[in-house]
Amino acid sequence: PFDILVVGGGPAGASAAIYAARKGLRTGIAAERFGGQVKDTLGIENFITVRYTEGPKLAANLEEHVKEYPIDVMKLQRGRRLEKKELIEIELENGAVLKSKAVILSTGARWRNIGVPGEAEFKNKGVAYCPHCDGPVFKGKPVAVIGGGNSGIEAAIDLAGIVEHVTVLEFLPELKADVVLQQRLYSLPNVTVLKNVQTKEITGTDKVNGLSYIDRSTGDVHHLKLQGVFILIGLIPNTDWLDGTVERNRFGEIIVDSRGATNVPGVFAAGDCTNTPYKQIIIAMGSGANAALGAFDYLIRN
Ligand code: FAD
Repeated sequence: PFDILVVGGGPAGASAAIYAARKGLRTGIAAERFGGQVKDTLGIENFITVRYTEGPKLAANLEEHVKEYPIDVMKLQRGRRLEKKELIEIELENGAVLKSKAVILSTGARWRNIGVPGEAEFKNKGVAYCPHCDGPVFKGKPVAVIGGGNSGIEAAIDLAGIVEHVTVLEFLPELKADVVLQQRLYSLPNVTVLKNVQTKEITGTDKVNGLSYIDRSTGDVHHLKLQGVFILIGLIPNTDWLDGTVERNRFGEIIVDSRGATNVPGVFAAGDCTNTPYKQIIIAMGSGANAALGAFDYLIRN
């Protein structure tokens, strides 16, 4: 069996595996897609000490760093069940069962897609999901934010300080965000809020040049000229497979304490799959290190 088995190979998992291996622990990492969300990212400018890198390059660097250590890397392996017996067992999609004294879950999350024409085509070419990551790219330009929940309105407030103008589009007749956020939003001079509208298409040529939406009260179609579209309609943690085992909150995020421990002894979690409030590469890496040290502490006491 492993001492520490990491499930998930994004920034959190890679960091956890390296920290575990550096303690001399028998470490494995099983990941469906090594590199995680980073693989889908183009420019990265907020990974401190690296002024600019690109997702595929950072993903390759993660893997290279992991391979510096005697870590058993199991790629294209998806966990489908966790069971706590004497050891912790992780059953993979292919039926194999991996056993470990401690487990670190780092299965990440995915942005909910809106599924309209142009979204996939213009991803990284004007379509964005993360205001902290891509906001500065749109400095002085007109953008839209799709989604009137807390994350959408927070993004709109954030972007309004950087970009020329923000148009918020909400499908429902009312914004769902907290009232304080709405008040802050409405106090800003360069924000327009469109409610009861449905995004029909994100338009562009080689990159985004606008968006068409349907006014749901009249059925009329309108077009906005834009250079960026931020889609903020939810982040879904990859944790369905843990149903009934590890405690999660109402968003499906794994609940962890300050050492990354879950409610199941020996099971730790890190990164975007947890209830950490902010989801970023540098934060995921820090939490992977934290969970590995938490797991190490657990192992030396048990
Ligand atoms: P992930 O990166 O999601 O990795 C999860 C890992 O778990 C993957 O290997 C996945 O295949 C695997 N997995 C999932 N389910 C299972 C399972 N059941 N069994 C086994 N393996 C599984 N952050 C920044 O800091 N700066 C940026 O510029 C930036 N830009 C972004 C741009 C885009 C388009 C996106 C989508 C995200 C961006 N982010 C950015 C956010 C950042 O990528 C994430 O916060 C970070 O990758 C989270 O790391 P993680 O390891 O927790 O999860």
